[in-house]
Amino acid sequence: MSQDIYVVIEHLRGQVADISYTMLAGARELSPAAGGKVVAVLLGHNAKDLAKDFAADQVLYLDHAALAEFTSDAYQLALADLIGKDQPRAILFGNTSIGADVASVLSMRLGLPLVNSCRSFTSNAKFISQICGGKIMAEGELPSPTALVTMVPGGYSPDQGRSVDSPPIAESAVPALEALRVTLSKYIEPESADVDISKEPLLIAVGRGIQNQDNIELADALAQAIGGVVCASRPVIDQGWLSTSRLVGKSGKQVKPKVYFAMGISGAPEHVEAITQSGTIIAVNTDPKAPIFDIAKYGVQMDLFELVEVLTGQLKAKV
Ligand SMILES: Cc1cc2nc3c(=O)[nH]c(=O)nc-3n(C[C@H](O)[C@H](O)[C@H](O)COP(=O)(O)OP(=O)(O)OC[C@H]3O[C@@H](n4cnc5c(N)ncnc54)[C@H](O)[C@@H]3O)c2cc1C
Repeated sequence: MSQDIYVVIEHLRGQVADISYTMLAGARELSPAAGGKVVAVLLGHNAKDLAKDFAADQVLYLDHAALAEFTSDAYQLALADLIGKDQPRAILFGNTSIGADVASVLSMRLGLPLVNSCRSFTSNAKFISQICGGKIMAEGELPSPTALVTMVPGGYSPDQGRSVDSPPIAESAVPALEALRVTLSKYIEPESADVDISKEPLLIAVGRGIQNQDNIELADALAQAIGGVVCASRPVIDQGWLSTSRLVGKSGKQVKPKVYFAMGISGAPEHVEAITQSGTIIAVNTDPKAPIFDIAKYGVQMDLFELVEVLTGQLKAKV
């Protein structure tokens, strides 16, 4: 048993996900009170180089051909073995489709408590979690002796989890990973001709308030006038009014534009968690109680249709 805080690094196709750095930052806050080290746990195959900028005291690297790509089966087996042997104080996972999948199964398999949707830690080792879909922040003691935790973005910036110094790396034994029930057959790439909204500096985001597919034109016109790109919340994508590559949120992309212009978007937690790294959020909504106003720097309570045409017209007139 140790007081170390383990962080399970998420990576896909050679890219470490931002949530991994956010978790390392959280682990750095938690570790002094716990009295242990921050340990990045990297599972992969020929992937050691990914660890070079982790703000960790140590990296435990588990290398195996079956870990070359994420599969829940292989991760569960490898991590169950590691956690059983080391019994760290806490193991942090991203509250993502990958992390939530593995953490929930490990909780059941190992009989360990799971703290979900943790946003940050306090200096006396308490966790702060978003509950009731993000409407309530709950503070609590981290269950002893070993707790599994899934973390959402927002409490720390990914840069707080990066370091210019490479941490020491130790290889850790991997158990037999044969007869896996699930293997990756292929990746399905998003539409290649489309833009990558995670890299765009100015996003015009539309939600259910846009009402129908024809009205997407209004957002397109505004985007063209202002030099931005249109993206959307899930109801718009589910209706097929824009391609899935434009989805912002838990099931879509994390974005970090300089300006995020949210029109007719309520601000559900699954959407908001992906926009917290935006420079300035501007929201237009008819409902003064819409949660999007809680995180917007500028908010306009009005009908988006009254605003958009006038705004687009004025921007065009200035060019
Ligand atoms: C597991 C899971 C994953 C999810 N993943 C995602 C995800 O990746 N991304 C995502 O976005 N959602 C996701 N969701 C769905 C999420 O919970 C919300 O349902 C969704 O974000 C709501 O989208 P919305 O804000 O466009 O719609 P609504 O919540 O219906 O809000 C529409 C808003 O438009 C306003 N409005 C209406 N008319 C006008 C008008 N004329 N002018 C101005 N404002 C107007 C309304 O006041 C309202 O606030 C997920 C849910 C689950 C359970």
